[in-house]
Amino acid sequence: MSPDEFRRMGHKVVDWLADYQQHPTRYPVLSRVKPGEVTDALPLHGPNQGEAMEAILHDFEKTIVPGLTHWNSPGFMAYFANTASGPGILGEMLAAGLNANGILWKTSPALTELEQVTLGWLRDWMGLPSSWFGMIHDTASISTLHAIAAARVRRVPEARLTGKWPTLRLYCSEQAHSSVEKGAMALGIGLDNVVKIATDDQFRMDPSALRAAVETDLAYGYAPFCIVATVGTTSTTSIDPVPQIAPIAREFNLWLHIDAAYAGSAAVSPKFHWLLNGAEHADSLVTNPHKWLFTPVDLSILYCRQPELLREAFSLVPEYLRSAQDPRALNYMEYGVALGRRFRALKLWFILRYYGREEISRMIEEHVRWAQELSEVIAREPGWEVCAPTPLSVVCFRKAVSDAENEAILNRVNAGGEIFLSHTVLHGKYVIRIAIGNMFTTRDHVFRAWELVSA
Ligand SMILES: *Cc1c(COP(=O)(O)O)cnc(C)c1O
Repeated sequence: MSPDEFRRMGHKVVDWLADYQQHPTRYPVLSRVKPGEVTDALPLHGPNQGEAMEAILHDFEKTIVPGLTHWNSPGFMAYFANTASGPGILGEMLAAGLNANGILWKTSPALTELEQVTLGWLRDWMGLPSSWFGMIHDTASISTLHAIAAARVRRVPEARLTGKWPTLRLYCSEQAHSSVEKGAMALGIGLDNVVKIATDDQFRMDPSALRAAVETDLAYGYAPFCIVATVGTTSTTSIDPVPQIAPIAREFNLWLHIDAAYAGSAAVSPKFHWLLNGAEHADSLVTNPHKWLFTPVDLSILYCRQPELLREAFSLVPEYLRSAQDPRALNYMEYGVALGRRFRALKLWFILRYYGREEISRMIEEHVRWAQELSEVIAREPGWEVCAPTPLSVVCFRKAVSDAENEAILNRVNAGGEIFLSHTVLHGKYVIRIAIGNMFTTRDHVFRAWELVSA
């Protein structure tokens, strides 16, 4: 593709994206395709001769776009809503165009240094200790896996060499995200050794149950090594009591990892600094700007108090990558599994600069306000119940009828194409969730969702 053709097509693509943002209701939020429909609409074999970009874009619009669920739609209030914001998309485009690979500092110095600087800004906005090290991964699942690996190397330094360790035990609440268990599976710790701690009536980890579990395990000869506390659980956004959990971690010398994949973004606002109370005593924390910080997927951040333990877990430098040691030349490849590294920091830097802390805080505070307002409206509505507190931007509720009827309500709303909601199960009951987090969602969209649900 010549630079001239690239320029012409690039303008077309940007125009398409701007139209897409301008007319978000052109497509149903939840895709209506049937399984296999996209596959069947595409040729079985790739073309022997290259095709014109116009033809490719035509098929993109005709076949691919209708097969997508539109995460960037203001009506998207399922799971945790997110946003590809303008500055984020522009940063992503430039990163693709530059195609820098941050294996070592010298393979793209600005990639590594911008990652450190940008994660430092965000760390300070969130009120985390200024000495903490930050590193970008694709997803929270991978960030948490790295935290668990560092926790293991602290408990069993020789595990790196021998591949052997005692029966390690990891603790998280029964509301924790499945990524904690997946991390334990991937690292060979075993699902049986992930101990699920009971939660209270507000879905928060019970610290006395945690202490009892650790003491029992010690009595039986297990090796407790790590606690994962969740700040903003996936079902209800409940917040584990980190100030009570941190002393238990310290007493038993356990690594404390905080999963703030969704809620960490809110701590950017001084009004929500309390979310991370006690986090200064943790060993690591994950937060996903690709959830509530208006960043296109993917970008997850792992903050870590002792990066030397990540390094101990993963550093293995082949001869062809050996480079002179300058203390200011960080080689991220030594701190994780991956060798190659995308220039993800660029889009985050664009976003933090373009909006600034105040505007980001304002948008997040607004999302929480709408959720809390809606929660109060639903609580007052006869025949409906709010099923969990609303500390952040997710409302969990149900109609006081059967699970099947609640499911039918959700299916009816989602089939309409205007709004997309998801569900969870609390105390064995089917619960509808409205999750606010997309920058283009307004208060009207939120109350329109409720109007459709309650119709
Ligand atoms: C979304 C979420 C995750 C997983 O995030 P990925 O980036 O998709 O791996 C982990 N923990 C919590 C609390 C989450 O909400």
